[in-house]
Amino acid sequence: MSGLPNRGFPLVLAAPSGTGKTTLARALVESSESFEFSVSVTTRPPRPGERDGVDYHFVDEPTFEAMLERGELAEWARVHGRHFYGTPASALEAASSRGRYVVLDIDVQGARQIRSSVPDAILVFLLPPSAEALLKRLVGRGTEDHEEVTRRLLTALEELQGAEEFDYVVVNADLEEALDELRLIVAAEGFRPSRVRGFNEEMEGLRAEIGRALDHSKSHHS
Ligand code: ADP
Ligand code: 5GP
Repeated sequence: MSGLPNRGFPLVLAAPSGTGKTTLARALVESSESFEFSVSVTTRPPRPGERDGVDYHFVDEPTFEAMLERGELAEWARVHGRHFYGTPASALEAASSRGRYVVLDIDVQGARQIRSSVPDAILVFLLPPSAEALLKRLVGRGTEDHEEVTRRLLTALEELQGAEEFDYVVVNADLEEALDELRLIVAAEGFRPSRVRGFNEEMEGLRAEIGRALDHSKSHHS
């Protein structure tokens, strides 16, 4: 309905490691105030330059487990066989009700859990343009050694199997094009009746108006 603000929704970006989901998530958030970043909880130690509460909420394992037990996480996973990561549920709802799109940069197993825990979320599977590009990006990032790169490629093979369960797939070949495609998806999703604030009331009002117009028209022709 024109003039009515739509509800926001969580936008999940999942992809094999090295595809570019962190780059895309950060670029979306920087490009517009409509997007905000979902700050995950993790047991991994901060890397140089990472800020607590901005990049992640850095917690110890007992704290992570307590959050899990209290049902505070919308999804969680042990990523790459090491540390625990999870998405605080409260931030998702808060952002959506403010009309914002909260962007989740999470792994593929976590994204699958979001499907059932947050049915309103939109799940996008990002693909690299080619295996060669994926390898180049993984190696080029320089954050994993040779053994770790091999492990991530093996995981990528498994993760690709579930791509068709997602709502959308976007190929991250050219960064700007991929960003435009993500913005298109978000724009289209905003037109769903369930996302239009006050949709039922608007429909009721319109039906009442049409009813009055009909009465008026009948009385003129009788
Ligand atoms: P992920 O979060 O999926 O593991 P990153 O966002 O860390 O991946 O990206 C992996 C590497 O690929 C980074 O060095 C990043 O700068 C680079 N990258 C991301 N998107 C593109 C792109 N469209 N073209 C070329 N390089 C890219
Ligand atoms: P990193 O330790 O390099 O920041 O992240 C490692 C991986 O964990 C990335 O693939 C990232 O998307 C994923 N990740 C980050 N936060 C979460 C989260 O809250 N849940 C899940 N399932 N994965 C996450």
